[in-house]
Amino acid sequence: DGSTVVFHLRMTGSLVYDPSGRQRDAYARLVFHLAGGGALVFADVRTFGCVYGFAAGEEIAVPGLQSLGPEPLSEAFTPAYLAQAVRGRKQPIKSFLLDQRRIAGLGNIYADEALFLAGIHPRREAGSLTQAECKKLAAAIQRVLRDGLADGGTTFRNYRNGEGGYGHHQEHLCVYHRAGKPCPTCGRPIEKTTVGGRGTHFCPHCQH
Ligand SMILES: [Zn+2]
Repeated sequence: DGSTVVFHLRMTGSLVYDPSGRQRDAYARLVFHLAGGGALVFADVRTFGCVYGFAAGEEIAVPGLQSLGPEPLSEAFTPAYLAQAVRGRKQPIKSFLLDQRRIAGLGNIYADEALFLAGIHPRREAGSLTQAECKKLAAAIQRVLRDGLADGGTTFRNYRNGEGGYGHHQEHLCVYHRAGKPCPTCGRPIEKTTVGGRGTHFCPHCQH
């Protein structure tokens, strides 16, 4: 009927298609029974997630949605966009990557992995990145997201993908959750530190 539903999964929310329509997740909060059979189940362990409904023609007023930056796998996200967005920014590049107003959808795990692939130290001032580094970083961001999607996501605790399965990308991470383990490039130990209040993993030898 032209109405819109917006889901914000936050930390532990999941949206899972159940073809039988009869399974019940212990943390199911809302179940949509689909006209074509099956059900779409919104489950959330910690209940930080939100579901918004808007009638046809109504303004889609969801906090934060309008101010989101470009989606990394869209045409709007280019090395030129990244170079322009970091210009003059004094914050560490890691904090910049987690700011959803600059780039949408990049979380702590994928930010660490992208910086490793690009060879950029997480504490580097965002505005100090060269054009060449922005190009490498933009490509690295797209690669870690595509690889993560191909593995069905990354599951440490609660994450489940759209089929209700656990992701497998945690088995292929280069730095995240690997403190003290050998860097896949140089073999020296991965270090863990805190940048902008977030646990951050990197190789001090390979990232500058
Ligand atoms: Zn290394």
